[in-house]
Amino acid sequence: MSDFRAVARTDVGRKRDHNEDRVMETGLRGGGHMLAVADGMGGHAAGEVASQTALTTFHERIAEEVGPDSGPISSRDMLEAAVETANAAVIEAARGDPERGNMGTTLVAALVLVEGALVVNVGDSRAYLIHDHPDPRIEQITIDQSIVRELVEEGKLSPEEARGHPRRHVLAQSLGVSLDVEPDFFSTPLGEGTLLLCSDGLTEEVSDDAIARIVAAYDDLDTTARALIERANENGGSDNVSVVLGRRA
Ligand code: MN
Repeated sequence: MSDFRAVARTDVGRKRDHNEDRVMETGLRGGGHMLAVADGMGGHAAGEVASQTALTTFHERIAEEVGPDSGPISSRDMLEAAVETANAAVIEAARGDPERGNMGTTLVAALVLVEGALVVNVGDSRAYLIHDHPDPRIEQITIDQSIVRELVEEGKLSPEEARGHPRRHVLAQSLGVSLDVEPDFFSTPLGEGTLLLCSDGLTEEVSDDAIARIVAAYDDLDTTARALIERANENGGSDNVSVVLGRRA
């Protein structure tokens, strides 16, 4: 596979006193790459435990199984198995600890292989693909697994009503809640596009169009990641902000 570059950054934001988001980007055996964002929730330090546990166990399972021979079909099964492993690990980490009773986490992850990216999603963190020529263009790969989003799909809420809805952060799925987690899977060719994984701390503060313009404005991925986080903070920084960017070099 041609070279793939990636960066991962996370920031506490302007309003929270600790960061419950976790990010990861790492190369895999056989030349693949894995990117991931987890946005944890729960009292005390539980949110961080949930997001860290999810990423660590998810990656361990992927690293065990991905190799030069893994094709697109086995890749999907592998992602599903890794989500189940991560989910069980978060549930296990909460067992017997009352302070961790309600902990959980989102997870969005991308496996970048020769043929493109395979994305798995649980919750409302997001993956996007951004092309910067001829004009900045942004495409949301994932669909939020949130209660409000489901109401929109059922025609019970308009997209406008959904945007400012007080319950828009209530997740339909998350890791650490039930053994029957139902991730969504997406696949996309990358071409010359930039893959972005992010937590809702970015998308609540920065519009899709503004994200596309910032990504198009810089060549260097680390500078781009810093600029995205800076914009989220300028616009309020009401939540932890996480950004993982990757593109073919
Ligand atoms: Mn968040």
